[in-house]
Amino acid sequence: MRLLPAPAGSGIVFRRTDLDNFEIPAVGRNVAKVSYATSLMRQGVLISTTEHLLSALIGMGVDNVIVELDNLELPILDGSSLPYVEAFLSVGIRTQRRRRESIRVLRPVEVREGNKFIGVYPDSGYRIDYTIDFPAPIGWQHASVDLATETYGAFIAPARTFGYKADEQRLRNMGLIRGASPENAIVLTPSGPENGPLRFTDECVRHKVLDLIGDLALAGRRIEGHVVAERAGHAMHTALVSRLMKDRSAWELARVPVTETPAVDSETARLPAAAMANPALMGA
Ligand SMILES: [Zn+2]
Repeated sequence: MRLLPAPAGSGIVFRRTDLDNFEIPAVGRNVAKVSYATSLMRQGVLISTTEHLLSALIGMGVDNVIVELDNLELPILDGSSLPYVEAFLSVGIRTQRRRRESIRVLRPVEVREGNKFIGVYPDSGYRIDYTIDFPAPIGWQHASVDLATETYGAFIAPARTFGYKADEQRLRNMGLIRGASPENAIVLTPSGPENGPLRFTDECVRHKVLDLIGDLALAGRRIEGHVVAERAGHAMHTALVSRLMKDRSAWELARVPVTETPAVDSETARLPAAAMANPALMGA
């Protein structure tokens, strides 16, 4: 996998180098099936497990990038988005001349399914409130994150994906989580994580926030609103994206004033232009 700089306004575009550079833009209309991960499909060409990379891109304020892949699956790395964030920072993020656009939520849009809920409300920033209620050892956890004041790289990116030891065989039999291992996921038993220690006591709900940011990236631009999620998952996240996109009266494209543009890490911003233009190279 390789990331390349892209012109302002081009958005996040995946490119399958093994299929004549076939391109799949990271937008909601290309969402394929959603179970344990989010996949994109266009004209039968698939890209799977997009959420952690998209989360890192949105979290770090990267609007325009080409993601080259030579197979259908993104690397799971350590199960978090921290390796992506570190790779971005090592090459730098260039501020482009054109003002960035956000999707400004104008009125509430909600999706409810049984006891699962997700909604987005007008807000001047990008705030997320996420509540989960899982069997032991996770239990009830809540995270309230304001991406204007909390640093994505420090608070969200390190949170790893998780799974229950008891579900492992069943999921493997279904052909899911093929690449899962204690190196790339928190493995939970009723008495606690099998491969501890956790990076945060509430690492699981933070990972849900990470996933949510990645799935909402499929709106095509960063959200300007307050997202409230309860017991949600990839299917609910992407259902909110489609409902929001369909309801054209619920949002507008807003130019983000230059002063509000999320600050790029100052050390990164000081890198010489030549260094910033280099593509990020990551192992896959
Ligand atoms: Zn995830």
